[in-house]
Amino acid sequence: MTLMMVLPSQSNYCGRAAGRGSLAEQLDSDLSEQLERRRAQQLLRVRHLLEGPQETAPFIDGRRYLAFCSNDYLGLANHPEIVSAAQRGVRDHGVGSGASHLVAGHSRAHRALEEELAAFTGREAALLFSTGYMANLGAVSALAGRGTGLFEDRLNHASLLDAGLLSRARLRRYRHADANHLRQLLEREPSRRSLIVTDALFSMDGDLAPLPELVAVAQHCGCPLMVDDAHGLGVMGASGRGTLEHFNLTPDVVPILVGTLGKAFGTFGAFVAGSRPLIEILVQRSRSYIYTTALPPALAEATRASLRLIQHESWRRAHLHQLVARFRDGAKRLHLPVKDSASPIQPLILGSAEAALTVSAQLRARGLFVSAIRPPTVPMGGARLRITFSAGHQLEDVDRLLDGLSSILR
Ligand SMILES: *Cc1c(COP(=O)(O)O)cnc(C)c1O
Repeated sequence: MTLMMVLPSQSNYCGRAAGRGSLAEQLDSDLSEQLERRRAQQLLRVRHLLEGPQETAPFIDGRRYLAFCSNDYLGLANHPEIVSAAQRGVRDHGVGSGASHLVAGHSRAHRALEEELAAFTGREAALLFSTGYMANLGAVSALAGRGTGLFEDRLNHASLLDAGLLSRARLRRYRHADANHLRQLLEREPSRRSLIVTDALFSMDGDLAPLPELVAVAQHCGCPLMVDDAHGLGVMGASGRGTLEHFNLTPDVVPILVGTLGKAFGTFGAFVAGSRPLIEILVQRSRSYIYTTALPPALAEATRASLRLIQHESWRRAHLHQLVARFRDGAKRLHLPVKDSASPIQPLILGSAEAALTVSAQLRARGLFVSAIRPPTVPMGGARLRITFSAGHQLEDVDRLLDGLSSILR
């Protein structure tokens, strides 16, 4: 992780003459220089403007595209039942929650959703957080601190790595998906308490963590395992219970589960699920839970509707996996540089940031929207197109994407 210096490097020594222009002007000129450097390296991040709802054919920057880059894997973000649940929620609860959960913001809607998420994940209890980023900060820093060994996959989501830094635990990153390396690191430093943390389905690579092997290491070393299933929940497993269902792993071997609601659930927010003592300690200690405004209760109502659809409409998962299979067959036939992934995340590795940006722009010119992912989100030399599918896509949409890619990359 690179931490860029943001403040002016030479002009801010106390007592030194301020040079030309006001301090505000100096700050802006320094920041502009930093932005120019990023632009020259093809690393400047820009935002595209979406009009209307998230859908497979969204209106972006003034035109309609066929898009393959949202995390709305089940096509629920604009589902009419979820929209009306949110509207009823606003009618019954208002818009703002008005306070944190511990002060006066914990509503009946939150509690009902927590109970339903606990039942869905087969655990005693669940705790809602405002975002997945905050759930990870809150859970890791409540469970690990100075003197704790924290073991994370190198490619874990930024929120898990940031959580490691914030917790002040001794952070050790094992090689991606390498349970043997994890075991070596754990055996090298037999500290009193340790925690292993991994993504279940890696967000930029689409591959699965070797969870059964990680469970074996965790059991061997007597160390709890925390799994963030942001991309697997709703998508993986016969009934959408996620990557743990896919691997048939029970709560006793993965006691700490994080799920997010902004992806397959199509709404917003996140949760941690586990035993009652785990949830209770998070309520006591998670600063990102305690010191923040509760999620709007209407969003909890929307998510309850979404959870019902996830459970009752298994065709969404089946169709999604069919789309993925069609893409993978076509990509293989066309010799496209796709990674080995059986999930709705299908990265196409292009190497340089420039190559990824160029192909992304060429696709846009053909009406196809796929965003380029560049360092530091992925390692240097690993810039890519991150293609994702949604149950809202048709098989013909996959063919259109394959046609576009093959004529550009030929
Ligand atoms: C998206 C994501 C998060 C963050 O969730 P938000 O609700 O978007 O903050 C956390 N972990 C993983 C693995 C993710 O992909």
